[in-house]
Amino acid sequence: MIDIAVIGCGPAGLSAAINAWARNKSVIVFGNKIDTGALYKAKKIDNHLGMPNESGKDMMEKFLAHALNLNIEIKNGRVLQILSMGKYFVINFENEFFNAKTVIIAVGITKTKKIPGEEKFLGNGVSYCATCDGMFYKNKSVAVVADSVEAESDVRFLSGICKNVIYLPMYDLKENFPANVEIIHGKPNEILGDDSIKALKIDNREIVCDGIFFINENTPVDNIIFGLELNGSIIKVNCLCETNLPGVFAAGDCTGWPFQLSKAIGQGQVAAQNAAKFIDSMKQ
Ligand SMILES: Cc1cc2nc3c(=O)[nH]c(=O)nc-3n(C[C@H](O)[C@H](O)[C@H](O)COP(=O)(O)OP(=O)(O)OC[C@H]3O[C@@H](n4cnc5c(N)ncnc54)[C@H](O)[C@@H]3O)c2cc1C
Repeated sequence: MIDIAVIGCGPAGLSAAINAWARNKSVIVFGNKIDTGALYKAKKIDNHLGMPNESGKDMMEKFLAHALNLNIEIKNGRVLQILSMGKYFVINFENEFFNAKTVIIAVGITKTKKIPGEEKFLGNGVSYCATCDGMFYKNKSVAVVADSVEAESDVRFLSGICKNVIYLPMYDLKENFPANVEIIHGKPNEILGDDSIKALKIDNREIVCDGIFFINENTPVDNIIFGLELNGSIIKVNCLCETNLPGVFAAGDCTGWPFQLSKAIGQGQVAAQNAAKFIDSMKQ
C-alpha cells in the first residue's frame, strides 16, 4: 500500500512527490513522459523565482532529476482509472493495479473536449482503455481516435481481436498497420446510435462501427475518477488542495486559474503536506 499516489509528472506532481518524500511518506508518481506537459512546451520562463531565462524543457528536466535523485519512483504511462475502495484507492495504471491511501491529482489541463454521444455511450460502446475493453469487441468493428503515437500498440492489439479497426490518428502517422486497419483522416464530431453505437461521424461521413476507443494522453479527469466535483473541466479544491472526496487532493493547472508554474509547484507542496496529515489522522 502506497501512502501517496501522485497522478501526473509535471511541476505540480513532482513538487507533490518531493514534499511527500520530505514528510517521510511512501510515494509513486504515475505520469506520462515529461514532454507531454505544458511546461515542456514553454520556450522561455521568466517569472519563476530564482530561475530566470530558462526554457521550460530545461526546467522540467531539472525537476525530474531532483525527484529521481531522491530515489522517488516514477512510472511512465497513463492512469486509466482511480477507484475508491472506502479506506483506500486502487490506481489502474496501464492495467497494473496499485493500492494507495491517498491520491494527488496533478494532470494539468485537458485539451480534449468530449464529442456529442461520448458521455451517453461511455461504458456502452465508448471506452478509454483498449486492454480493459478490447475483448468486448471480438470480431466486431471498432474505431480508435488517438492523439499520440503511444496509441499504436493499442491499435495493433485491437486489430488482432476485432474484425476491423478504423484508425483516426490526430497526429502525423508514420507506421504501417495490419490489413484490417483502415486509416482515416478527419475530425470526429458525433457518435450516432440509439441503444448502442451505430456509427462515428467524421466530418460529413458516417463510419459504421460497434465501439469507439478514445486513446488520449490527457483524458478528461472525470473519466478517471467518479464523483469528483468539477467546475467545467476544473477540479474544485479548497485552500488545502482538498477535493470533495476525502483522501483525494489536486494541484496545478487542473485546479484552475492562474495556469502558472509557481502556483503549480506551490499547490503540489500544499497537497502533499495535507495528504500526509490525512494519513496521520487515519492512524488515530
Ligand atoms: C507555451 C507555454 C508557455 C508557458 N509559459 C509560462 C510562463 O512563462 N510562466 C508560467 O508561470 N507558466 C507558464 N506556462 C504554464 C505552466 O507551464 C503550467 O502552469 C505548468 O506546467 C502546470 O503544471 P502542472 O503540473 O499542473 O501540469 P502539466 O505541466 O501540464 O503536467 C501534467 C502532466 O500530467 C500528465 N497526465 C495527464 N493525464 C494523465 C493521466 N491520466 N495519467 C498519467 N499522466 C497524466 C500530462 O501528460 C502531463 O505530463 C506556460 C505553458 C505553456 C503551454
